[in-house]
Amino acid sequence: MTTEQQARKLKTRVSNLAKKRGQLQKAVNAESKARKRLNERQKRGVGKKTSFKCHCCGKRLNNPNLKRHYDHIRAKSTGGSDGVWNFLLSCETCNWGRKAKLPEEIHLLLALGEMARSEIERDTELGATIAQAAVRRPAIKTWLSKPASRN
Ligand SMILES: [Zn+2]
Repeated sequence: MTTEQQARKLKTRVSNLAKKRGQLQKAVNAESKARKRLNERQKRGVGKKTSFKCHCCGKRLNNPNLKRHYDHIRAKSTGGSDGVWNFLLSCETCNWGRKAKLPEEIHLLLALGEMARSEIERDTELGATIAQAAVRRPAIKTWLSKPASRN
């Protein structure tokens, strides 16, 4: 398969995943969207699963002043349960970045993100193009406005 054919295959798969997510969300929207709120005991139980760290990035969330998100493992909007077992603790950035993406989409985003990061680090022509486009995105602007972390 040529690179062009593989790129078309990637575009088709990305589009199909978005359609699949949309269909799941539409099916769930047709049902009840009522969300169950976790009580304080349930929230502590969810936090203990990851020692009060974000399940995605590992940020410590043991200080109660930090914004904690009780993140559905499988998104509510794609049919995920409100059972305590379907929650993990996450930071605001990771929860908002993940949204209702399907696991397969998260894997693709990580692979594409790693490719983009590598291009930027190696200072390639593509990396410069990606960096120029990226700095216009609100999430990247926010990320750049924060001091570099020490870990
Ligand atoms: Zn995080």
